[in-house]
Amino acid sequence: MISRRRLLILAGASAAAAFAGVSPIAGSPEGTSKDPNVPRWAMLVDVDKCTECVKELIKKTGDPHVKPPCVVACDEFNNVPEFEDKKKDPQWMRIAKFSLDKESVEPEEFYMPLLCNHCEHPACAQVCPTKATFQRPDGIVMIDTHRCIGCRYCMIACPYGARSFNFEDPRKGLRHINPEVPTRSRGVVEKCTFCVQIVDEAMERGEAPEPACVKACRLYSKNALVFGNVKDPNSEISKLMRTGYVIQLRPGVGTDPYVFYKFIKERP
Ligand code: SF4
Ligand code: SF4
Repeated sequence: MISRRRLLILAGASAAAAFAGVSPIAGSPEGTSKDPNVPRWAMLVDVDKCTECVKELIKKTGDPHVKPPCVVACDEFNNVPEFEDKKKDPQWMRIAKFSLDKESVEPEEFYMPLLCNHCEHPACAQVCPTKATFQRPDGIVMIDTHRCIGCRYCMIACPYGARSFNFEDPRKGLRHINPEVPTRSRGVVEKCTFCVQIVDEAMERGEAPEPACVKACRLYSKNALVFGNVKDPNSEISKLMRTGYVIQLRPGVGTDPYVFYKFIKERP
């Protein structure tokens, strides 16, 4: 049986957003390319596999906040710092726990990674006064940190809490630096880029891109993340999206997220 409670929890978020005064988004400033030769990147998360992975890790380590391989790989590749004061940590990818009604006959909980959704209509880009936040034709939403003035309008506009503000110089919280990805400075906003450097290099080589989180999950855990071009009907992600229950987070706010969540095991 499909877990209607799960879907209600997630769909309920959009109703909550409406009550919170989040207006539907009218349209993206630049828009993604309609050219069939330009990819439209997206990610699909198998929620049941993620839940299995995180539960196993928590059991093994006894740490309810343990970072799974996807988050570790994201942080390492993208130079995401870790401070002693966890409140100062920027978060590009985080694991969220959803607990269902405690009164429920069948109590259950599940885990999902949350990250920037690289929305088709990115609310963040629409409010950015300096155009530091922009959308590429392939759908990747980027921040030019040299243009970012740290006003944080984008953080208020994003319905997913996908952005972090650097209260500290991030370089002070890095144990090592990956030279492939530029480090950021204090006073600017940062977020997931779908590992844009990996995407662009793979495209130059004519290969299928595999962001750091996707690769780590495939190599060290459950292969719960799939990344690809949803304009190509024969891509793995397109094929998987045609099966099972696939949802977007907060569909009612009009951003049209391109990170999708799938509940495979519960398909009848
Ligand atoms: S998830 Fe938030 S930060 Fe990412 S593109 Fe959508 S509105 Fe912007
Ligand atoms: S904090 Fe930076 S990226 Fe965000 S809206 Fe302001 S200038 Fe744009």
